[in-house]
Amino acid sequence: MPTKYIVVMGSLLSGIGKGIVTASLGKILRMYGLRAMPMKFDGYLNYDCGTMNPFRHGEVYVLDDKSEVDMDFGNYERFLNVSMTKDFSMTGGKLFSEIIEKERRGDFLGRDVQIIPHLTDLILEKIENVSKENRLDVMLIEVGGTVGDIENSYFVEAMRQLALRHTTVFVDVVYVPELGTVGEQKTKPTQIALRSLMQSGVQPHFIVCRSERPLGDPAKDKIALFSNLTKERIIDDHDEKSIYVAPQHFMAQGLDKEILRELGFEGLKLDKKAFNSWDSYAQSAADNSGRPVSVAVVGKYVGLHDSYASVKEALVHAGVANRASLRLDWIESEELENLDNDSIATRLGASDCVLVPGGFGKRGIEGMINAIRYAREHGLPFLGLCLGMQLMTVEYARNVCMLKDADSSEFNPRTKHKVIDIMEDQRAIRLKGGTMRLGAWPSKIAKGTRARKAYGKALVYERHRHRYEFNNAYRRRLEDAGLVISATTPDGRLVEMVEWSDHFGVGTQAHPELKSRPEAPAPLFVEFIRSAMQAHPTRKP
Ligand code: GLN
Repeated sequence: MPTKYIVVMGSLLSGIGKGIVTASLGKILRMYGLRAMPMKFDGYLNYDCGTMNPFRHGEVYVLDDKSEVDMDFGNYERFLNVSMTKDFSMTGGKLFSEIIEKERRGDFLGRDVQIIPHLTDLILEKIENVSKENRLDVMLIEVGGTVGDIENSYFVEAMRQLALRHTTVFVDVVYVPELGTVGEQKTKPTQIALRSLMQSGVQPHFIVCRSERPLGDPAKDKIALFSNLTKERIIDDHDEKSIYVAPQHFMAQGLDKEILRELGFEGLKLDKKAFNSWDSYAQSAADNSGRPVSVAVVGKYVGLHDSYASVKEALVHAGVANRASLRLDWIESEELENLDNDSIATRLGASDCVLVPGGFGKRGIEGMINAIRYAREHGLPFLGLCLGMQLMTVEYARNVCMLKDADSSEFNPRTKHKVIDIMEDQRAIRLKGGTMRLGAWPSKIAKGTRARKAYGKALVYERHRHRYEFNNAYRRRLEDAGLVISATTPDGRLVEMVEWSDHFGVGTQAHPELKSRPEAPAPLFVEFIRSAMQAHPTRKP
């Protein structure tokens, strides 16, 4: 049977959770036994996300196959429990470079190359190929940005044409603001936004309304009237305690039945077991009512939580797995710089454990090192991710091995003791895009280590994204001083994980958060939270 399509767009503003809507629809269709996968369009002219600042754009997400993609892929993989590939990500940059390459090759000889039909044809061809190769029953397409942006206008036009070729359902995600003291939900922005969507030739089949509180009947009625839709097709998507409740929330409004009917799949049976298991998971994530555990996340992009989206979700997964109620304390690492020990103790004193996530550049580094030292000296469980592992090594070299000027050459290229140094393979590389050590790589974990206990096996594949690495010239010295090298690449050449010997403190060169899913939480995160609960066994909910 030919693939059918669901296109998710936003006509009002971006950043309101189209990714969660898309992932939830995918989850729902899969619970009905359909092979559904999402594809994402981003209009920017970057080839991929790799060169974007997480502080502006949110986290750069890495797939097994080395591609650096939009953070929405994190939601897709977490909701659907699948591993995706670069084919599911389409950017303006990739499309334009491909169309110009075709033109230079002479593929369009005699023609002037145009957005319509050449670029739109290329988009449709790619969509159809990915659908076919993956034998999809339904492809969900999330169009990034907002309808009306110049950046994604050709994607919107391609979607209009898609509906001429295939069964296509359009879902428009809007935001319904509420005016402060009056508390009235205002639909005017949605009405205006709908006009611009319809001007593009697209009549939505469903409108998903993001709002702070449940969508009231008057707002629903008004939006229905302006969109030529019945009220059942105006879907409430107000802020909930957990993103994982979204699929059930949509199903409770009958969206599953309506969308299956629209696609011509009526009569399919819901897999009750899959539904119940997701439902109970989502309820636990929303309740967050176990034993309280306070996690200090010390990073440099904490002002925008989206920069650490996968870290946050991996913590949620580990919290549910341990029946813990997590309180995340996001600490701007610069705040911890130039503080004496007492002030650091005051700032971190209420934390049960400390996490230092990944990052680039010098700003805030000393604050992270101070936090790591505090955790090591005060018996607090610690988890270091990529940069966090590198700084755990620097801290150990400085304060235990007494190599006072130990550093990473990323921050201090002239230091005598570069305990973290540029990778050999990286020295000659000048181009910035897609050139780090990226994607899933194997690590071999040594017996008797905390990392081995967490994973329960010797060989693991985690995703990477870095240029610097543990400098082997210091391996002996650090090991002699008590730092445990718990994992290396299978050939023994690159250090992949280090740990403290006396209490849980593990640093990994990888980003295990990128593979953490509700149905498969990241082992190091689970063990980290478990250790934090053991370290403070007396705390009560
Ligand atoms: N900046 C460090 C490196 O490139 C760490 C990267 C990261 O944390 N993802 O090696």
